[in-house]
Amino acid sequence: SIPLSFFGGIGGASSCGILVKGSNYLEALARTKYVVFDKTGTLTKGVFQVTEVHVDEEFTALEGEKAQEVLLELAACAESYSVHPISKSLREAYGGEIKPSRTAEVEEIGGHGVIAAVDGKKVAAGNARLMEKLGLGDVLRSNSPEQKNGGTVVHVAVDGKYAGCILISDVVKPQSAEAIAALKAEGVKETVMLTGDSNAAAQRVAKELKLDQVKSELLPGDKVNAVEELLAAKAPKEVLAFVGDGINDAPVLSRADIGVAMGALGSDAAIEAADIVLMDDNPMKLALAVKISRKCLRIVY
Ligand code: ADP
Ligand code: MG
Repeated sequence: SIPLSFFGGIGGASSCGILVKGSNYLEALARTKYVVFDKTGTLTKGVFQVTEVHVDEEFTALEGEKAQEVLLELAACAESYSVHPISKSLREAYGGEIKPSRTAEVEEIGGHGVIAAVDGKKVAAGNARLMEKLGLGDVLRSNSPEQKNGGTVVHVAVDGKYAGCILISDVVKPQSAEAIAALKAEGVKETVMLTGDSNAAAQRVAKELKLDQVKSELLPGDKVNAVEELLAAKAPKEVLAFVGDGINDAPVLSRADIGVAMGALGSDAAIEAADIVLMDDNPMKLALAVKISRKCLRIVY
């Protein structure tokens, strides 16, 4: 039987935009000791600004004065079918109209980037791992500028040649630091961030938010492994919650004790896999959910 106060708790939570799929999750939430966050779109806004475009000499020789614009345009076209926050930023930075007919044979590789045919050219846009995959690791190491301020680098290759890179930068959500502190105040022991982004980008965010642990350069499958390691290490009564924006997150959401999908625009798969759905992008909603659950538990017992 379900104690009455949990009904009140679920109702109270839902009026705050927190959908709890069952009273067992509300009860578990009160015992949350580990909160594991995805980075992009969860702790950060997931709205990247393009800060610099670097073009390789050879690509400049080929494209001339407009090389930077061409690089951005090719990347934006290659990304035209992606829903990843990075792709949106590249399309916006390019600004021009993108005709769907220019892009074909799109392959999006989770945790890597995209490869597509644009105007008949083979364009790859993604991280260093994607370039390694294409056999361009060495060229990359001697060519690319390091992103000093902890941003994200999108490398671009055209027809099998390294063409340059686009530096983009995401910002932490205004409520993230407050949410981390509030969770700690509610008795959470460890706050962890998992990300497929570079170590430099991850460290910048972890430091700003005072997170306890951070793991970077993870593939979607590595995130599941990281959660399993944490699950194996914790005491049986302790609860681990994973919070993600849903892009590539469904497997991790289902593996955690409590999966929390964030953002009204989360993918259907994420909403399906989640135990708790936060209807907006504010991470404070999670701290509020923990607070409500603990209040219910005190009333029940
Ligand atoms: P996060 O863990 O921060 O949510 P993802 O797992 O979605 O990030 O992606 C990890 C990394 O893979 C990104 O930081 C980026 O370098 C690369 N990547 C993924 N998708 C794309 C894409 N569509 N375009 C370019 N790069 C991408
Ligand atoms: Mg993500």
